[in-house]
Amino acid sequence: MILPDPQLRSPSDATPRCPRAFSLVELLVVIGIIVLLATILMPALRHARESALRVKCAAQLQQIGQALLHYANDNKGCLPAFSGWHTWPAGLPDDSQGPAWTIELMPYLADPDSPLYHCPSFPVPCRNYLLSSLWASLNDQHAVRLSAITLTSRFILSGDVTALSVYPRPYGTGNYTSMDSDLSDEATDLLAFPEDGGFLMHRGGNNVLFEDLHVDAFPRFDPDAMSFHPKCPLSWPALKAAGPDAK
Ligand SMILES: [Zn+2]
Repeated sequence: MILPDPQLRSPSDATPRCPRAFSLVELLVVIGIIVLLATILMPALRHARESALRVKCAAQLQQIGQALLHYANDNKGCLPAFSGWHTWPAGLPDDSQGPAWTIELMPYLADPDSPLYHCPSFPVPCRNYLLSSLWASLNDQHAVRLSAITLTSRFILSGDVTALSVYPRPYGTGNYTSMDSDLSDEATDLLAFPEDGGFLMHRGGNNVLFEDLHVDAFPRFDPDAMSFHPKCPLSWPALKAAGPDAK
C-alpha cells in the first residue's frame, strides 16, 4: 500500500491566494493616464458635438427656407410679410395686432413653438431665426418679392438671431416678457456678430440661410458672400444708413 506523501497537497487543499493590491504609485499612474486621456479627448468630443449642432441648425434653416419659397409660390411670389412684436399664442401683454411670419408659415412648416425654430446650440428652447426685412421696410413694402432678388446666392433670407436685445436675461439684455414670433430685422440688426455687439451662436460662427437655400456659418459679416440688399452687396448697417436711397 502506498501512503500519500504528507508534503504533497491536492489542488482542492490549496489555500486561495489573495490578489496583490495596487500600490499607491500604481494607482496614481492609472489615475494620471485617465486624466491625460480625458484632457486629450474632451475638446475633440466637445468640438464634434458643437459641429453636429451646427449641422442640425443648418438643416432646420433649410427647411425654413423651403417653407418660405413654398409660401411665396402660393402668394404671388412674395415672402411672408414682417410686422411688429407678436406673441404665440396671441393675446399676451406684449402682443401686437397682425400675424407673425412664423404664423404665416404654419401651413408650410409648423407652429411657432416647433423645435424647428429653436437653434439647437441655444441653451433654452425659444425662437432663434430671423426673417430678413430691412430692404423691404426701406422700400415701404411689407414683404420681399422673389423676382426682386438678383443676388440669389448672397441675399440673406434668414439666420441665427444673435442680437442680445432680443433675449431675456440672463441670455441677453431684453426686457420683454414674451418671445417674439415675428423676429424680423427691419429695425434691429438681429444677425449681430461679436464686432457688432452680438455673439456667435456656434463655434464656427452664425448660420446664415441664403435665397438659393444654401447655408453657411460666418464668424463675421463677409461682404463677398453676404448681402442684406437683394441686388447689390450691402451689410445691415450700410443698408440702414443708405435708407430709401438703397432701392
Ligand atoms: Zn444655429
